[in-house]
Amino acid sequence: MEIMDGRVATIHYTLTDDDGIVIDKSSPEAPLSYLHGAGNIVPGLENALTGKKVGDTLTADVTPELAYGPRHEQLVQQVARSAFPEGADITPGMQFEAHGEHGPLVVMVTEVGDEQVTIDGNHPLAGRNLHFAVEVVEVREPTEDEANHGHVHGPGGAHH
Ligand code: ZN
Repeated sequence: MEIMDGRVATIHYTLTDDDGIVIDKSSPEAPLSYLHGAGNIVPGLENALTGKKVGDTLTADVTPELAYGPRHEQLVQQVARSAFPEGADITPGMQFEAHGEHGPLVVMVTEVGDEQVTIDGNHPLAGRNLHFAVEVVEVREPTEDEANHGHVHGPGGAHH
């Protein structure tokens, strides 16, 4: 059975950056399941997987345009340290949810000064090329619920 829109695919993947540093990978006992064509994974990887079968291995080099998009420097902002709760331990790498123009936005603290804190609302992988090494381990038809919800249930997917 080939991977096509509307089918559930299960994959093992390793994601590396331009320097070959591993950014993310599926754990051996928990491969990733997703609904193909539903925007569950980045478009560049989805494109590369179309038509693949169980046992196929592939690599996909994905540009930011087909991954998490370009970086927007206007999403990097300085806020007064006093805007944070008093006594809060603010450290670089911390993430929190802020109210953006288009709804909730996850922002990361990138620098902490005495008076100012720098926050970055870009996705951590925005502006970066992504290199995937993938093995297809299962392809199946979705259940009715999965098709209706637009995502996979059970192992590797949503639990509800
Ligand atoms: Zn669901």
